[in-house]
Amino acid sequence: LLDALIDQAALAIERVTLAEDVDRAKLAAETERLRSALLTSISHDLRTPLASILGSATSLSGYGPMLDEAARRELAMTIQEEAERLNRFIANLLDMTRLESGAIRPRTGAVDPAEVVGSALERVRRILAGHRVEIDLAAGLPMVEIDAVLFEQVLFNLLDNAGKYAPDGSPITVRAWREDGRVRIEVLDEGDGIPPEDVDRIFDKFYRVHAQDRQRAGTGLGLAICRGFVEAMGGTIAAGNRRDRSGAVFSLTLPEAAGMPGLDPEPDPGL
Ligand code: ADP
Repeated sequence: LLDALIDQAALAIERVTLAEDVDRAKLAAETERLRSALLTSISHDLRTPLASILGSATSLSGYGPMLDEAARRELAMTIQEEAERLNRFIANLLDMTRLESGAIRPRTGAVDPAEVVGSALERVRRILAGHRVEIDLAAGLPMVEIDAVLFEQVLFNLLDNAGKYAPDGSPITVRAWREDGRVRIEVLDEGDGIPPEDVDRIFDKFYRVHAQDRQRAGTGLGLAICRGFVEAMGGTIAAGNRRDRSGAVFSLTLPEAAGMPGLDPEPDPGL
């Protein structure tokens, strides 16, 4: 899997640089540099949670009987959280390869946006436990024509990021309304926001604003996956900063489903 990702990245560089007729030695050096940077980054992302799991498991098995109930629970929670983090990381890598190999074909249908927002929130509830989540969905939102499974993953990634990049305890808002024949959904946080020069690049594969900041585990893949999924469904996604205060805004638009029940009622068969 890792090799496939690296090869894809190398191929992409090759295509661009060949078009510009760059010399081969430079190209090989650049490919090699990318390959090793990628390996370092991915190994780090795998090893950080693994080290926590190993540490906590070793304490539990070695000193478990000597620890009180609260300490044992704490260690067990660490193991669970870090294993979940590993799981998300691997899911991200898989999603990315599926996207790039064309294996993702959205199965769209009429979906109630409030329902997908609800199920995505349910999935991130534990991750966002330290935050206040505010939901503000306009009344009478129409159905949207999307793949509910892919879209839930998109919301999950955005909410997970809001939790990661905004301070603990700060509010995270999800709001949605109808606009120009589409449904707009926004995820807002109160973190530092995104430097203006990076608002487009953060959707690139492996791009992270603070590449050196390894405190927050991440792959730089989450937003690339979001964009791939959303565009495959005929939607749009953009990043920006809040005007009212510091914080990021991720804004999605989704196509409305044709023949929405609320606005275009079926003829009453009894008439
Ligand atoms: P990851 O979170 O794994 O690094 P993503 O593709 O999800 O990868 O995000 C890419 C980069 O965009 C992040 O590294 C971070 O620098 C920036 N970013 C994403 N979401 C936010 C946010 N809510 N606030 C500030 N920066 C963000």
